[in-house]
Amino acid sequence: MRSILHCDLNNFFASVEMLKRPELRNVPMAVSGDPNKRHGIILAKNQVAKKYGIYTPETVYSALKKCPKLVLVKPHYEEYKKYSILVNNIYRKYTDKVEKFGIDESFLDVTESINIFGSPYEIAYKIKEEIKAKYNLTISVGVSFNKAFAKLGSDLKKPDAITVLDENNYKEKIYDLPVEMLLYVGKNTQQKLNKMGIKTIGDLANSNKYRIVKHLGKLGEQIYKYANGLDDERVKYYYEKEERKSISKGITFQSDISDIKSLEKEFNKLASSVSYTLRNLKMKTSVVSIVLRNSDFSTISRQKKIEYTSNFDDIVRNVIELFNEYYVPETKIRYICVALSGLKSNNENEQIDLFNIEENNNKNVKKDNAALAMDKLKSIYGDKIDYGSAIEIKTSK
Ligand SMILES: [Mg+2]
Repeated sequence: MRSILHCDLNNFFASVEMLKRPELRNVPMAVSGDPNKRHGIILAKNQVAKKYGIYTPETVYSALKKCPKLVLVKPHYEEYKKYSILVNNIYRKYTDKVEKFGIDESFLDVTESINIFGSPYEIAYKIKEEIKAKYNLTISVGVSFNKAFAKLGSDLKKPDAITVLDENNYKEKIYDLPVEMLLYVGKNTQQKLNKMGIKTIGDLANSNKYRIVKHLGKLGEQIYKYANGLDDERVKYYYEKEERKSISKGITFQSDISDIKSLEKEFNKLASSVSYTLRNLKMKTSVVSIVLRNSDFSTISRQKKIEYTSNFDDIVRNVIELFNEYYVPETKIRYICVALSGLKSNNENEQIDLFNIEENNNKNVKKDNAALAMDKLKSIYGDKIDYGSAIEIKTSK
């Protein structure tokens, strides 16, 4: 029998904001996408705001209707990422099987840690208290024998709590809960199940498997297994590789640009930024694409297959070629983007952690072509380019 924890940071974004501004603890507060725009979305809220019935995700407009005094705070993703890494580093003291499931959640397989650190409950307790003492953040933990139940457990009691679902108590504790509390049962699936007369997790567990599969296909089989405690998916290692699909970076200009030289310069900057990221991820690209959006929002996107490379000169040359080929002179451009796809690792066996690009930055990277290109880049642009935060990296997940 495995021992799996699901650790979930409570009100994570809001909690981090309150570390910086403790006065926000006593007022209704929410982190929202764009506090100035009423169609922004509430990303997180504190306990006081929760009492007003504010939930995530809802619009700022509707949240302010419920609570006009609500204090809205802009998100600081770099800060959240920093705390996420620190907290995951605590998890990693207890096991090397730590699988991130979003910025504020991780699965831990502690089966082999029990001899060293105590029972799964004790491990959960130690982790919870250490995070509280060190970072003044709370987590809720689900402890169970599979991932689906561990995930469910962490939702049952929060904040700052531990819920154990073992083979002896799970039926009694979760079979009366609504079926949509189960992992991967979204709105759509919930509606289909409800129509079939399945309202609770227990209903699903005791239903006819073939009927579920007939109506819901593969997902049906999966959630049927979940409900019966038969989820056997393993917890991945922290550094286990995720397949990356693309690296892209775009820019919206403050005023439209139609000057070819200026546009080329902007494309050059974007190309240098994405190739810098590519080099840090120790990867090569085989497809270069550009996006050009006109002032009237019409958009063209063009791509080109190239030989695998991480070399800045190769990448920028192809980007500029694409631009020159498809740009209609004098068109006013408001947004451009450069993307690299068809990626592969320099060394296919090497495990790189996407989440810790910063950590990888500090490691000694062998001086390859890309590194030389980087040096060249630095000499052209100095340290003025903001490479980091806005780069979008898509994974297959
Ligand atoms: Mg959370």
